[in-house]
Amino acid sequence: MTTTTRFAPSPTGRLHVGNIRTALHNWMLARQAGGAFILRIDDTDAARSSEEYADAIRADLRWLGLDWDREERQSARLERYEAAFDALKAAGRIYPCYETAQELEVKRKIALGRGLPPIYDRAALKLTDAERAAREAEGTPAHWRFLLDHAEPIQWEDGIRGTQKFDPAQLSDPVIRRADGSWLYMMPSAVDDIDMGVSQVLRGEDHVSNTAVQIQIFTALYAAAFAAHEGAAKSLPAFAHEALLVGREGKLSKRLGSLGCDTFRDRGIEPEAIIALLARLGTSQPVEPIADRAALVASFDLATFGRAPAKFDEEDLERLNAGIVHQLPFDAVAARLPEGMDEAGWHAIRPNLAHIGEAADWWRLVTGPIAPPAFTDDDKAFLATAAETLVWGDDPWGALTAALKEATGRKGRALFLPLRQALTGMDHGPDMGELLPLIGENEARARLETAAR
Ligand code: GLU
Repeated sequence: MTTTTRFAPSPTGRLHVGNIRTALHNWMLARQAGGAFILRIDDTDAARSSEEYADAIRADLRWLGLDWDREERQSARLERYEAAFDALKAAGRIYPCYETAQELEVKRKIALGRGLPPIYDRAALKLTDAERAAREAEGTPAHWRFLLDHAEPIQWEDGIRGTQKFDPAQLSDPVIRRADGSWLYMMPSAVDDIDMGVSQVLRGEDHVSNTAVQIQIFTALYAAAFAAHEGAAKSLPAFAHEALLVGREGKLSKRLGSLGCDTFRDRGIEPEAIIALLARLGTSQPVEPIADRAALVASFDLATFGRAPAKFDEEDLERLNAGIVHQLPFDAVAARLPEGMDEAGWHAIRPNLAHIGEAADWWRLVTGPIAPPAFTDDDKAFLATAAETLVWGDDPWGALTAALKEATGRKGRALFLPLRQALTGMDHGPDMGELLPLIGENEARARLETAAR
């Protein structure tokens, strides 16, 4: 069977690191297998969904380089949900309910008060036709629940959590459709996974109990021959649920919920750093600044995922970002570099950057003007010698320092620091061997002469 995965965000907000991680892992599963990655916009909640958020989600995925093979949206598939609903109803797996939210809340409190789990008591299932007709006549429209089969134990081999077992009697029959006819998440998602031939569902562990319920929905839909058409998945997808991301302190953090692509981009974080971190966070594989996406895809393996929450540390991200920036080729960054900075300039300056945006500051060392410190008379004399000694060739820095060492007996810091300060105005920075040719002969001599005065 070909691998088909999906990322199914609700367009009710921006993507945050947790969603980005789910998107990435589904993308990697599909790319590793040469399969398809679907972007599914879960927009059945018309009141909370917006086109702006859907656009932002696409833009973020593009920025991250997570390309999708197909886009689907739930609002365009209402007919299919209607058909599934009819099929399940005909099979006796859906029943109308009339409780108000307050009545349900009272039932919940009573159950909890008795020390029982707050499982829906199926009171609506016991209504007679006459009682139902009376509720309808009163003007209470029905909402609809899916009837779990208590005789059908729920079990699956989770790609991360191992064997998962649920007793359906310990679960509430889920409401799948509201009284106004709109859909809740539970059934449309299963219908889509069938229709779109989804072979693997990888999502956060907050969905584990949804999976338990959805397995019975899938099974009921198969039994109702709902998956007979071409392209439909003929058997349950493989499920895997990842441990959630937590902040550095080990807690589910509000901050993570608001940390998304805009924040990262504004802070100068490269998409490749985010990818390198999220690809392996929470796995037994080392988190390293791997800029080669194909390598990350090839090494992706659900079996390496742990059950413990994965800690997202912004300092790790900064560290990885620097590691990634140091590897980026000129072509990948040229458009974001200061005017006039060429490939040699990029190579000289790259090792000093934590973020590409800092290139401009370092490039000013080449273009000037620079502000050298005040020198002692001793250093001034040394720098005057340097100005005279400077000769231009393949390796002017190597030649200059070798000649000065010979002529003055200086070595180490006493040799290098005044030169660096006179030539760049700084006491640390890019490799002088690479920088000096960029400064150029005349400018370099002028800077040494200025410093010597
Ligand atoms: N729209 C759902 C969510 O955002 C999708 C869950 C799923 O992957 O099935 O949580």
